[in-house]
Amino acid sequence: MRPPVSFRSFNGATCRTHFYTILGAGGLLWMRLGPEGFRPKRRWGQNFLVDPAALQAIAAAFRPAPTDRVLEIGPGDGALTRRIAPRVFSLTAVEVDPELAASLRTSLEEVRIVEADVLALDPTALLRDAGASPGTPARLLGNLPYNIATAVILRFLNRHDLVRDLMVMVQREVAERILSAPHRKEFGSLSVLCRTFARVERVRRLRPGSFRPRPRVESEVIHLTLCDPGGAAGAEPDRFAAFVQGCFEQRRKTFQNNLARLLARSGGGADDRARAFLEAVGIAPRGRPEEVPPEGFQRLFEALEAERSGRAPAPSPPV
Ligand code: SAM
Repeated sequence: MRPPVSFRSFNGATCRTHFYTILGAGGLLWMRLGPEGFRPKRRWGQNFLVDPAALQAIAAAFRPAPTDRVLEIGPGDGALTRRIAPRVFSLTAVEVDPELAASLRTSLEEVRIVEADVLALDPTALLRDAGASPGTPARLLGNLPYNIATAVILRFLNRHDLVRDLMVMVQREVAERILSAPHRKEFGSLSVLCRTFARVERVRRLRPGSFRPRPRVESEVIHLTLCDPGGAAGAEPDRFAAFVQGCFEQRRKTFQNNLARLLARSGGGADDRARAFLEAVGIAPRGRPEEVPPEGFQRLFEALEAERSGRAPAPSPPV
């Protein structure tokens, strides 16, 4: 054990403490500071990825190509941006923190920095500004702040016309929900929507020690390649998303109960109608929504939309 260290405090008193106390306090401060002494702001989920091997692996998995129009969300201090920008046609980055946006503007001249809250922007205008068009859809990249990750994914998920793929870092639990199969407790509306509008793959798990400051949770990078599901879900993606979210509002109730509640908003006899619709598309009315694969939700939505638009009669209620 090293002997105690003496030092003079701010009020002139002599203090004695142990070498390891000082070392521990220094370490704690180091973990709380971001890169180059920048003081991270918790409200914007600023946990910076500082592990060079992890950054390199994400950049390699992204496979940047000279024709890519990339939209990065939350570039932070530009650790990932710097690795991708020189290898693509263009990179537009949206950063909410004015301090970081200003510093990126001076250090990364070839990158277009948009200083804004990404959720406050119109996604179509943003994608077009980033160079996306139906012939050259953009590629999305982002170590997303945990608190807005789901909202960001849902915002771009049904834009296969202007987005080719998303490589995003999310909290591990969110990745589990996105990747989950039916019958698991993680399976819910996010799983159904991601699997309807994309092909989803795991890329890499990231330990808290790879970040500064260190987050309390584990993270995972996932890759979503967007596709057009076709049918009613493809034609009315926003209505489909609202419908799927409605089906999971009361997870412990049967699918029939959940659907009846949704149908009741548009007329009476909801219980019988719900059961008839579910039976017509091969879903057990007394089962739970988490037992139904994404294709089941698509079939059910197709039938409901066909009736709503007058293209098909409602299935006959059970006798
Ligand atoms: N990309 C950097 C990295 O990998 O180290 C930083 C990632 S940090 C988890 C999230 C970044 O997103 C921060 O720079 C934060 O300021 C930014 N951010 C947070 N909320 C945002 C929002 N609503 N719109 C745009 N950027 C946001």
